[in-house]
Amino acid sequence: MKKKKYNYGECEICNTPIEERHIKQDLWIKGKLVVIEGVPAGVCPRCGEKIVKADVGLRIAKLIEDSDRISKAPKISVPTIKFSAKKAAA
Ligand SMILES: [Zn+2]
Repeated sequence: MKKKKYNYGECEICNTPIEERHIKQDLWIKGKLVVIEGVPAGVCPRCGEKIVKADVGLRIAKLIEDSDRISKAPKISVPTIKFSAKKAAA
């Protein structure tokens, strides 16, 4: 028997049917950027709107409570640039 897929319905913004994908969810926790990989979510193929189910949201909340797990997780570096009010030189 095929597992029934969760129906995310249509995008609230552009009414496109939402597709299920596994995404990377980035969160700021106590001033640190934490990325959770493989989060099942509904993604609008047209405008990129993301929908995370309530139970997935709860799982994420549990994961980020685990500070030990976060401190032991592999680190990635991300580009950090400063916002400048000046226009970039053309
Ligand atoms: Zn959309």
